[in-house]
Amino acid sequence: MSITTIEQKDLIKKIDELRKKKNAILLAHYYQRGEIQDIADVVGDSLELARKAQQTNADIIVFAGVRFMAETAKILNPEKKVLHPNPESGCPMADMATYEGVKKLKEQYPDAAVVAYVNTNADVKTLADVIVTSRNAVKVVKALPEDKIIFIPDQFLGSFIAKQVPEKEFILWKGFCPPHFNLSKEQLLQLKKQYPNAKIAVHPECNTDTVEIADFVGSTSQIIKYATTCDTDTVIIGTEVGLKHWLEKLNPNKNYVFPQTADYCGTVHCCDMKKNTLDKILSVLESEENEIILPEDIMEKAKKPLERMLQIV
Ligand code: SF4
Repeated sequence: MSITTIEQKDLIKKIDELRKKKNAILLAHYYQRGEIQDIADVVGDSLELARKAQQTNADIIVFAGVRFMAETAKILNPEKKVLHPNPESGCPMADMATYEGVKKLKEQYPDAAVVAYVNTNADVKTLADVIVTSRNAVKVVKALPEDKIIFIPDQFLGSFIAKQVPEKEFILWKGFCPPHFNLSKEQLLQLKKQYPNAKIAVHPECNTDTVEIADFVGSTSQIIKYATTCDTDTVIIGTEVGLKHWLEKLNPNKNYVFPQTADYCGTVHCCDMKKNTLDKILSVLESEENEIILPEDIMEKAKKPLERMLQIV
């Protein structure tokens, strides 16, 4: 249950007035703060938000997510103004794959297809043959004619896909998502002792040991579907804690247990996702600052692998 303070109510009222006046839409990822999810026009995962960005008639898109997501919305909508509430909200995993490094790997394996997780920066997307999300990666990889795949930047999502597509050879970039990586198998097993009848659902960005003991492995949207409809009252969830808010809204009759990890921000908690706040959303709507501006050539080249993904799924 979320509590809205008087200050928040005031901010929300101003945000509502401005988004109407400026024909703006607020898109929010599931890992955003609860109060942002509550007022967003659309809450979704990377793919849902990318599609929504492409379909909207709004003149301005305020993107409450990390920077690569706002960049993706801009690439798909070059004529629209995309505002990012906090430019400091980046993705540590996306930053692990550099343009120069990926280019070198591509030269080393000229017959391989470069499959880039959507969690990559715009310049790196220009080197990709196709973009994937955790929801559609297996389907997209299977549809490619190449037998050799360079997968960037998440080694754990890459391994998870490789197991499901054994007929192809995978070269994995050694990136990882710090919040998901820090969730250990032992922590989940400990919780399982506490809730013996619970099911365990995890995101494939978790490390391989953790993924192996789960009852269900899937993208954020797939976890939502599983957790809210499975036959147990309690579900132990191995993904970012922001999802708890959405799950409790969708089906409040279940108990969603999120583990505590020993480091980073305490739970499976992405500090970068939480850098967007209501006052920052209001501020960008007022000033129209923090606009995503990308060089034309990067936008054109990065759009091709994104559109290829949207055609396949
Ligand atoms: S949860 Fe992980 S992959 Fe997602 S934005 Fe945060 S660091 Fe990046």
